[in-house]
Order: sequence, then structure tokens, then C-alpha cells
Amino acid sequence: MVEQKKSDQKDLGNYTHYMYWWMYRRCNFDCEYCFRRREDSDESTDEFIYKKYSPEHIAQQFDETGKVWNVFMTGGEPFLYPGFVKLAKMLTRRHYISLSTNLSTPNLCEFAETIGSGRVLAINASLHILEREKMKDGLNGFLRNFHYYLERGFNIRLTYVAYPPLLGRIKEDIKRIKDNGIDKISVKVFQGSYQGQKYPREYTEAERTFLRELGLSKNEEAILDRRISFLGRKCQAGCNVFSMDIYGNVTRCSTLKDKYGNLFDGTFVPGELSLRCTARRCACTYQGIKFASAEPFAVPSGIVAKPVRFFTDVCNWIGSL
Ligand code: SF4
Ligand code: SF4
Repeated sequence: MVEQKKSDQKDLGNYTHYMYWWMYRRCNFDCEYCFRRREDSDESTDEFIYKKYSPEHIAQQFDETGKVWNVFMTGGEPFLYPGFVKLAKMLTRRHYISLSTNLSTPNLCEFAETIGSGRVLAINASLHILEREKMKDGLNGFLRNFHYYLERGFNIRLTYVAYPPLLGRIKEDIKRIKDNGIDKISVKVFQGSYQGQKYPREYTEAERTFLRELGLSKNEEAILDRRISFLGRKCQAGCNVFSMDIYGNVTRCSTLKDKYGNLFDGTFVPGELSLRCTARRCACTYQGIKFASAEPFAVPSGIVAKPVRFFTDVCNWIGSL
């Protein structure tokens, strides 16, 4: 059973396993800060994958694990995945889903009406304001879709990334959103590069204070403060929490690429025990914060990865240490 830290317990469904599924690379937006811009990826392979594995097949492969999953679907834009509503319908017969979306596609109503809110545990609706403003109905279209989901009982939360060029307008944007009756808003610390500088490291002290005043969650505070590590701590990733790519390849998490087979071709085998984390830095911070057994700490300087890996492997082998 996936154990959740107290702060996350509002998310509880009756699932035992959690899959972060990076399901689709394509997107109808072109955000300046998107990781897709940095990746030299050939999106044409996406087409090959969804033609090879039907929604029925994918749902069946989840069923055949004998576990109950919370499948967190992210991309790209998940709603653009061909046959997405059908896939969601098949998955939610036995499992739960969660989503990260830009809330912009024409099938939003079809999804809400077909699937309902019962087995959709969480929707992170990302407001990409610069992209929205290129669209005819801009922010209003986003807010309308957000209310539509809220009124239908979905656990939906608006996320706003504190990208450095947006810091001058974020307060006004949030006021506008709140004036529109939406208060489930999460400001996300930007993790990436802007003008050759690495963030969050390069936020100035004044910017950090400003972000805190906007009301960061405890997790975002931790991400703002330091590069996060759970090195040597037990983490459920690899036991009942996994990452999966568009091809169905399952790894321990997005940082540690230990292989657990391929779910689509039926070779996925989960680990049996929670193991200690061997990563000097947890780059999939939300996974680490949610599923490691202790609070994060700052990445210690001067640690050499291989001896640490050796040490944690020995601890994992001994098991009870
Ligand atoms: S909406 Fe998300 S996936 Fe699409 S371009 Fe923007 S950040 Fe990237
Ligand atoms: S703490 Fe982070 S890097 Fe380590 S195993 Fe867990 S999710 Fe992976």
C-alpha cells in the first residue's frame, strides 16, 4: 500500500501503487520554459506507440499486475493523447487517475461527462499565462474550464509557475484569478534555466521573500531553499511507486533509471521492498517529497556518487539498517 505523508492524505484513494506516466510528448502550447524545448526528441515515435498499444491493451496490462493504481498522467498534454477519454474510461474501471493539464483541449467536456470525478483523484491545471494570451479567449477560457471542472466535483487546483519574467505580474494575475472566485492556487517555484542561469538557485533574496509572501506550500518552500536530497533514506519508489515513459518502460523514478521491465509488453515486475535512495540529488522532487520516508535535506557538497551508491546498496542488502 502506498503510504502517504500526513500532508498528502487528502489525496487518498484506495490504491496500492502509484505510476507517474510520461504518456505523450506533444503539446498544443509552446511555453518558453518547457522541458520539451531542451529535449532532442522525435515526437513521431509517439504515433507508433499509441497505434501499437490500444487503450484496451494498456488498461488490461495495468489490471494484470493485480494491483490498484493511481496513474498520474502527464506530458506534453495528456488530453491530446489519441483516444484519451477511452483510455481514461478503461483505466478508471479498476484504477484511479490523476492529471497534469493545460486545460485547453476540445475534449475537456467529453472527459468530464464520461469519466466523472469519482476516480479522478487530482487535476493540476497549469495556467501558462503567456501562451493563454496568444489565444482568442485568453485567461477567461482557462477560468471558464476551471469552473466547469470545479462545479462537477473534480479535485482541481490551479498551478502558476513563478518563471522569472512573470514575477512582475504574478501578483496581479493571482488577484484576477481570486476575484474570479478561484482560491485553489499553487505557486510553483521555477526549476530550470532562464538566460543561462539555473533556478531556483538564482532567485534573489528579494524575489524569494516576494514568493514566500505569495504563500508557498511547505514543499515549494523546500524546493526554493535548496537542492533536495533523500540520499540514504528509504523511498517507496521502486516498490509501489514508479515512473513510466511513453514506451511503457518502467523505472524506479525519473531520477534513478533502475529498470523494472515494460508494462505494455507484460514484463513489468515491481520490487518487493522500499529501498534506500541512491541519488545525490532527487531531481523528481515531487515524487521524493511524497514518497521518501523522511523530510528532504540540502544536497551535501563534496559527496562522490559512487561510494554513496555502494554504501546505500549495502544498507539495502542488509535491509534492516
Ligand atoms: S503546456 Fe506544459 S507541456 Fe505544453 S508546452 Fe507548456 S509546459 Fe510544455
Ligand atoms: S528520493 Fe527521489 S531520487 Fe530517490 S528514489 Fe525517491 S524519487 Fe527517486
